[in-house]
Amino acid sequence: MYPLIGITCSYDEDTKKFTIGDDYVQAIQAAGGVPLLIPHRSNEHAASLLTKLDGVLLSGGGDIDPFYFDEEPLPVNGYIDPLRDSFEILLTRMALEQGVPVLGICRGMQVINVAAGGGICQDISLMTNRPLQHSQQAPRWYATHNIKIFKSSLLQRILGRDMVRVNSFHHQMIDNLGKNIVISAMAEDNVVEAIECTDDKNFALGVQFHPENMYFKYPFILSIFIAFIEACTQFLSSKN
Ligand code: MN
Repeated sequence: MYPLIGITCSYDEDTKKFTIGDDYVQAIQAAGGVPLLIPHRSNEHAASLLTKLDGVLLSGGGDIDPFYFDEEPLPVNGYIDPLRDSFEILLTRMALEQGVPVLGICRGMQVINVAAGGGICQDISLMTNRPLQHSQQAPRWYATHNIKIFKSSLLQRILGRDMVRVNSFHHQMIDNLGKNIVISAMAEDNVVEAIECTDDKNFALGVQFHPENMYFKYPFILSIFIAFIEACTQFLSSKN
């Protein structure tokens, strides 16, 4: 049996369409999972939905409503999708409680931290006075800045490297960490580039970069998805 992986989507208010990059779908398939796109329209069904899933992939997207980390919105905060925020945070909290593996990408990493009670800095410029270029001016697959991976972290075990060059499409960054969340990688300007959950029963990994756009050109980065799917397969067999 292949594990069933729920992938969260973006929503376009103008066209009334849920959207998701094909690269997420292909990466899950390449790593041995069955992708299932999940719309954020049914908070009351989130618990039922989660019982059918063997893993949750939180995709990238816009900014989270600062309400969820007890801040008022600053002018630098971007467009927010209230329904997506509430659905993803609810789903992630339940997944963490139940030990359903979670992989968060970009916004998805920030959702993991907020669901665990942590905060987000609403713009990188507010926390560092000499930031790197985190909104890269280059093709999406191209790796533009280095990240230092912390020794003995889950991400270090997955990638087997202390330094990796990654792509970058974000203007916000992780601030205070949520419960059981630790930093697993940072850029040179101390911007958090990966987090993970210290609770042994949970595979919960968040990356600020976009491995789904990179693995075609940098095959080693697919190991992030392979490790996630391995955890989902284990979770699936533990249910039976
Ligand atoms: Mn970055």
